[in-house]
Amino acid sequence: MRLLVATRSAHKIAEIRRILGSASALHLIDLDEAGVPYDPREEELEPYETFEENAASKAEYFHRLTGLPTVADDSGLAVDALGGAPGVRSKRFAPNPAGLVGAARDRANNAHLLGLLAGRPASERTARYVCVAALVGREGGQPVAMLRGEARGVIVPAPRGKGGFGYDPLFLDPGLGRTFGEIPAEQKHARSHRGRAFRALASFLESERGDDGADS
Ligand code: IMP
Repeated sequence: MRLLVATRSAHKIAEIRRILGSASALHLIDLDEAGVPYDPREEELEPYETFEENAASKAEYFHRLTGLPTVADDSGLAVDALGGAPGVRSKRFAPNPAGLVGAARDRANNAHLLGLLAGRPASERTARYVCVAALVGREGGQPVAMLRGEARGVIVPAPRGKGGFGYDPLFLDPGLGRTFGEIPAEQKHARSHRGRAFRALASFLESERGDDGADS
């Protein structure tokens, strides 16, 4: 099955390819491979207050453009002491007068988060990563599945490690005593919100194939 992974994030694409790598029945295509040129209107696809609505909005848009079965994820970090912020605004958390992008933007977001949590003990630094994958395929452009994955952690007072992306150097996995920036990619995927959501997607697609086989 050909499946369009609708994101412009090189980090996300790389992670999703690794996570779904073992699902050999899937042929993953990114937006470049699908011949979808960047359009500034894509920046307006995630205006909603829930991960589910934003993921569905992205998947529906790119499915309409390509006609391909499409998965899009919306993800972010929810810090308990900040009432769930940055949440759906994780990518654009820090004020950004300099127009920073990529790794510079990630560093600004991390510095902003550390500033907001300054002086708080570990017990007040608990957080969750959330990822929702929306699948739009055969049935009239509506999502046929929404898969949510979460990972719990604690925000450390200073960045640790150079792996991963975004908030990973700040996100301590309590079971490992290491941040997602300090562990190998495979170990992150085994525990992460994205790993959980996309493995659930693989199981969903596998069960659908099984059902199709039973019907025919
Ligand atoms: P999205 O493209 O709207 O889903 O934005 C997701 C944002 O949440 C990213 O830009 C990161 O700031 C943050 N985020 C989501 N998943 C991760 C992760 O696995 N590691 C680090 N940061 C993440």
